[in-house]
Amino acid sequence: MFRVCIFGTGYVGLVTGTCLAEVGHHVTCVDIDADKIDGLNEGRIPIYEPGLEPMVRDNVRDGRLHFTTDAAEAVSDAEVLFIAVGTPPDEDGSADLKYVLKVAETVGDNIRGSVIVANKSTVPVGTAEKVDGVIRERLAARGEEFPVEVVSNPEFLKEGAAVDDCMRPDRIIVGTRSKETADRLRQLYAPFNRNHDRLIIMDVRSAELTKYAANAMLATKISFMNEMANVAERVGADIEMIRKGIGSDPRIGWHFIYPGAGYGGSCFPKDVRALASTAREHDVEPELISAVESVNERQKKHLFELVARHYHGGENLRGKTFALWGLSFKPDTDDMREASSRTLVAQLREAGASVRAYDPEAMDEARRVFGEPEGLAFCDSSEATLEGADALIVLTEWKQFRSPDFRLLARSLSDRVVFDGRNLYEPADVESMGLAYYAIGRGRSC
Ligand code: NAD
Repeated sequence: MFRVCIFGTGYVGLVTGTCLAEVGHHVTCVDIDADKIDGLNEGRIPIYEPGLEPMVRDNVRDGRLHFTTDAAEAVSDAEVLFIAVGTPPDEDGSADLKYVLKVAETVGDNIRGSVIVANKSTVPVGTAEKVDGVIRERLAARGEEFPVEVVSNPEFLKEGAAVDDCMRPDRIIVGTRSKETADRLRQLYAPFNRNHDRLIIMDVRSAELTKYAANAMLATKISFMNEMANVAERVGADIEMIRKGIGSDPRIGWHFIYPGAGYGGSCFPKDVRALASTAREHDVEPELISAVESVNERQKKHLFELVARHYHGGENLRGKTFALWGLSFKPDTDDMREASSRTLVAQLREAGASVRAYDPEAMDEARRVFGEPEGLAFCDSSEATLEGADALIVLTEWKQFRSPDFRLLARSLSDRVVFDGRNLYEPADVESMGLAYYAIGRGRSC
């Protein structure tokens, strides 16, 4: 059993803390957001993540999981401190380290003995050294000197499958120079590392860069497929056939080759930008990484182009009402950070259209993001969005949208048209109901 303290009770911190408690460690989660901590102490989970709620409840009940805003108390007897606070993009795209360095100050001001500080936030190369420097400065100001080892321990969990990823990680990366620290973390992670050795120990800088390399590679696959989809659309080919054709090559594989309405979320967009910024800082022109981002920005607007093409220019969609299925940036999450829905809703409203939106989990978040502006209605179900709608746009591939009642769509949508931003349907199935169907890269939209 380890006594663990986690700074940041968001997607990464809350899930990591809960999973560590689940395997027997004693975990205190600290956050500066008092509402979040009060809510957690009253049993309210601030995010939607499959399987998380009962796990939090059970571990709180069993006394292994605590939530507090009192950082001094939380670090007082912890052996391992995790940093899991946000690293949002700065104005120039680089990662803003203000939250991470604030935690370093708090750690330096409050620890009472030897600790390992493991950084899970996604941070540029060199951040562990900065964190180490801040902690030492603060300790010196107190006239204290404790052995502190700052390691990089990047997080690879996926929102929507975060609990599963945390309980069964495909790798645990630890960047440290110290064999003793690596051994301690090996012990801490042992419950997640039983089936085969998933720990990869490396130097700190490589660990920090590995996280960016992983996200940039995944984003590259998506942008590549989106670019291919645009070519397919123009030449009259079907990207879904091409996807099957290339995915069957094991060197390419099936994962992350789905074309769509662009990637979003809290990680890919900001991490791709931050990696480009790191490259530039070190005199490497990030040509490929920059293209990945610009292709994605263009792709987020592509669905609106299809709408505009259908409606003969689309400059003025005044009077048109669009049913919109899906607001979160991907299924199984309520996260709307950099979601394609934000771009599309803005474009539709700018063109004078009304939107009737539904998402299985992101409705509260959507109200927070959009407010309740005129021309945007939030509906209680996917069927309710169809009332008075002229066309349907599908934007997030939630399972419940995968097999709709096309007869109902044909009866409900006055313009009898479906725009599918995730290629969920067989064109023939939709068209056989007398609906026009636009998807991504399926050779039928020009
Ligand atoms: P989040 O925004 O959901 O949560 C961050 C939390 O940190 C917030 O609750 C905030 O109040 C809290 N916080 C800020 N300053 C604090 C401080 N000084 N002390 C205590 N708490 C503080 O963020 P997230 O999505 O969990 O991401 C955290 C980090 O992990 C980021 O660097 C992100 O890039 C990385 N990451 C995220 C994911 C993901 O899927 N969300 C996956 C892997 C890595």
